[in-house]
Amino acid sequence: MGLTLDPQALLMSTMAGGSGRSALLQQALQNTDMDPVMGQLVSQMLTRNEVAEAEEINEQIAERDERIHDLRDTLEDLGQTLKRVHAEVQALRAERAALQQDLGAAVEQVELLAGALGVCDECLGEAPDCPTCGGQGYPGSGFYRPDPVLYRRFVSPAAAARRPSAAIQGSAA
Ligand SMILES: [Zn+2]
Repeated sequence: MGLTLDPQALLMSTMAGGSGRSALLQQALQNTDMDPVMGQLVSQMLTRNEVAEAEEINEQIAERDERIHDLRDTLEDLGQTLKRVHAEVQALRAERAALQQDLGAAVEQVELLAGALGVCDECLGEAPDCPTCGGQGYPGSGFYRPDPVLYRRFVSPAAAARRPSAAIQGSAA
């Protein structure tokens, strides 16, 4: 026996739409008891329905293509941004390395001069809250003693240059 579908119910369901519409119409066509005129009608509806579905699918494909295109653009933009950020990070790293090198050299120079003067190489004796000397490492305090070698290297020539008479005698500190 075939499927006994009420034509009105069939029409209603096809008007309502849905993904199973073509399947329902297809199923109705299997009904061998169907009136030839009704069969032709269902057949036409099936064709029209399939055309509509195809159009719908094409529309969805077009929308998806557009979305993919947009996503590609976004991805390309992100790639460019990432490249730029990467270059900036590289530049900043190089800058930081250069600054660290400068800082290291400056610290070394301060340590040499602090050693020559016999002062704290953290604060020169000017910071009461200095963790190294507590503000006691100022020049002449005795907290540190000038390093003789560094003193002769840095302080003696400077002192001699300030006193013309001493300069003549040489660095006999
Ligand atoms: Zn200090």
